[in-house]
Amino acid sequence: MKSTHLFQEAKKYIPGGVNSPVRAFKSIGINPIFFIKGKGSKLYDVEGKSFIDYVASWGPLILGHAHPAIISAVEKVLVNGTSFGAPTELEVEMAKLVVEAVPSIEKVRMVSSGTEAVMSALRLARAFTKRPKIIKFEGNYHGHSDAMLVAAGSGVSTLGLPDSPGVTKGAAADTVILPYNNLEEVEKAFNKEAKEIAAVIVEPVAANMGVVPPKEGFLQGLRDITKSRGALLIFDEVITGFRLGLGGAQEYFRINPDLTTLGKIIGGGFPVGAFGGGKEIMDMIAPDGPVYQAGTLSGNPVAMAAGIAMLKELKKGYVYEDINAKANMLAQGLKEAAESAGVDFYQTKVGSIQSLFFTGEEVVDYKSAATSDLKLFVRYYRKMLDQGIYLAPSQFEATFTSTAHSEDDINKTIEAAQKALKS
Ligand SMILES: *Cc1c(COP(=O)(O)O)cnc(C)c1O
Repeated sequence: MKSTHLFQEAKKYIPGGVNSPVRAFKSIGINPIFFIKGKGSKLYDVEGKSFIDYVASWGPLILGHAHPAIISAVEKVLVNGTSFGAPTELEVEMAKLVVEAVPSIEKVRMVSSGTEAVMSALRLARAFTKRPKIIKFEGNYHGHSDAMLVAAGSGVSTLGLPDSPGVTKGAAADTVILPYNNLEEVEKAFNKEAKEIAAVIVEPVAANMGVVPPKEGFLQGLRDITKSRGALLIFDEVITGFRLGLGGAQEYFRINPDLTTLGKIIGGGFPVGAFGGGKEIMDMIAPDGPVYQAGTLSGNPVAMAAGIAMLKELKKGYVYEDINAKANMLAQGLKEAAESAGVDFYQTKVGSIQSLFFTGEEVVDYKSAATSDLKLFVRYYRKMLDQGIYLAPSQFEATFTSTAHSEDDINKTIEAAQKALKS
């Protein structure tokens, strides 16, 4: 087995054999799969096996793998060099596309990952309000910067890790953790120390504890409270941005945050993140303002070319109807499969992201998401994988549909789920 051999080699030189924890498939109890190629809706591994992919590189690949528009845009700029550490026209074009697409963004700065986008946005929020604390919700994931690595979702939940060693009390002390979808607790926190709270950061649709939609009024409530208390509202749209629509969750729910963080889709499969907001706030960043933020590879021309090609394709308008329809078809099929198998389940879906939790409880926050039967998930997961369906190897991640999925892919997936859940 080539994958097994590669994993053994990898473990000699790379911690855990992987460059990001969930990739190790530890919670599933099997070795990771090593891939050599992606095309459309399919991934191909080193054994020559193909899979229908619903991970989409954890969200970026909304057009599927190796989309021709992105590949050709990258090829075109690549021959002119890979990095200048100086401005290019591509960055102007990219920024303009983002500002036009995302309702609350007037100015935007590029970085190289979602983690970096969040880290920079928090610094800016603290500088702007001259306050230290950040409210974050349990099970929301905002990358792996120290202050955000408290009660985090994604791999931290998947691996059942405690809050990470190496994060000092000092770094965590200014992070206030509250349950998702609970406005009362937010009110209480502000009543206790309003003058200390710089910002509330939220995944407008939580997608790193499985998909958990915001309750009616939750986001509007956050908007109202932060505004009246002089704090900023930060939407972490690293997953929802360009996914729920060109304008992301803020357009979908018609609520404008003060700052927005972006990542994943914006890079067209390259390492890109961004943060943006109103001019008054964004102009506080160096060199115009005192808030320092920088990056050797920020606005990298190859990554910008990929991102621009991505956003231009998304602007054509066919994308969202298409991926949402496929997501609906998949959700309906999975629901029927779970019903006829007689398992306890709770299904969530917003646009093209969805989850199937194996619990009889309504999932509204991390606590209820964690009631999911993880042993059952592992059995289901392995049976799906055996049938060539590549889902995220964790109950606490989202299932993504892309324009590359065909009806045939979806039907095959539903049939596989029927078999997996019946046995
Ligand atoms: C993935 C993710 C991040 C971190 O982005 P990276 O590019 O992995 O650093 C931040 N916030 C959310 C909501 C994410 O899903």
